[in-house]
Amino acid sequence: MKFWRLPLDSEAHSIPQGIVNIIENRCKGCGFCIEFCPNGCLKESKRFNAKGYHPPEVVMQAEDCVECGLCGLICPEFAIFTELKEAKKITEEDIQKVTTRYSRKDKRSQKR
Ligand code: SF4
Ligand code: SF4
Repeated sequence: MKFWRLPLDSEAHSIPQGIVNIIENRCKGCGFCIEFCPNGCLKESKRFNAKGYHPPEVVMQAEDCVECGLCGLICPEFAIFTELKEAKKITEEDIQKVTTRYSRKDKRSQKR
């Protein structure tokens, strides 16, 4: 689905951008944060931590972290948390990016 314009109240809102912090040696490699990050900001690294697991790492589109905090909430080991870096104004590009991303996810879930 493609939105044809910015929402009328877009000036009243902003998009938070987060910095992801990972305490690698606490991680037990469950992958919850990777699986459930709504914006696909994380992936499994090739490194081993002190426990012998692969901790997550931030992927290239890290600016997509919207500081929702879900990774920190879901982590059973308190090994990941985010901080607010800045909040930016919503642009038409952001709207298109979000709609493209979620229509791709819709198609994937319909195939299951
Ligand atoms: S705060 Fe949200 S968007 Fe950012 S990495 Fe964690 S789950 Fe993903
Ligand atoms: S949710 Fe926590 S323990 Fe699981 S992979 Fe992510 S950082 Fe590691």
